[in-house]
Amino acid sequence: MLKLSEHVDRFFRSCGVLRISPPLERQELCDIIVDMLRQNGYRSNVYIRPIAFKSSRTIKLTLSALDDSFAVFAFPFGHYAHREGGLRVGFSAWRRIDDNIIPARAKITGGYVNASLASDDAGRAGYDEALMLNADGTVSEASSSNIFLVRGGRLITPSVSENILEGITRDAVIELARTEIGLPVEEREVGRSEVYTADEVFLTGTGVQIEPVVEVDGRAVGEGIPGPVTGRLSALYATAVRNQMPAYAQWCTPVYQFHHGPGD
Ligand code: PMP
Repeated sequence: MLKLSEHVDRFFRSCGVLRISPPLERQELCDIIVDMLRQNGYRSNVYIRPIAFKSSRTIKLTLSALDDSFAVFAFPFGHYAHREGGLRVGFSAWRRIDDNIIPARAKITGGYVNASLASDDAGRAGYDEALMLNADGTVSEASSSNIFLVRGGRLITPSVSENILEGITRDAVIELARTEIGLPVEEREVGRSEVYTADEVFLTGTGVQIEPVVEVDGRAVGEGIPGPVTGRLSALYATAVRNQMPAYAQWCTPVYQFHHGPGD
């Protein structure tokens, strides 16, 4: 399992924003997740979704002094957003929720109404995925993944103050780019036309993993085919997350004690 403690930490931090105290400790949640996978006997890629919520019967709009509950489920999972040869994406007319509206930094279910509006529009317009701008027109992220650009040998991604979910895959990709490829990484404000003029663009997320983008708003990215940096990072990521790179063994939590094959 990939970066379990980072995901559980983000889960608890998100809960804190909504004043939810899940009725269990971090380690208990980790144990429940591992146990659930084991009991189901999964031997394939699996998506795991813990959810914490207010469970008191009230119509009052308050986050305080209510009961808190949680649930967790998992299901086998293929590709989230995948197209052979790369994704065709478009900027959405829906702007990204701002930190002072619904904090995008917290993984709040209600925030996904915003992402769903963008994603739905993109699908209807024939795109594979939506890119979202902040209210001021700077680039935020895709509907459920973070965005990276390669421009002139540098890796660029919107900074954490750009109303992004602070992606765990984003962190992993930054680490791989710096450590394994020696690429300079810039986390900063990104303009829309920087995306149009990038050499390469790709999306990252637990679901999408690393997915190349070959077209933005009808404009080819670079040569219009997945680029070499994206390819290298994808290959490194795929190896590391299957516990086949000893330097990144701490990213992976084994599910089955006596089996160390791909997918664990
Ligand atoms: N942004 C949003 C809005 C997301 O839903 C996701 C998927 N969780 C991401 C970015 C990527 O985050 P991660 O790499 O932690 O899955």
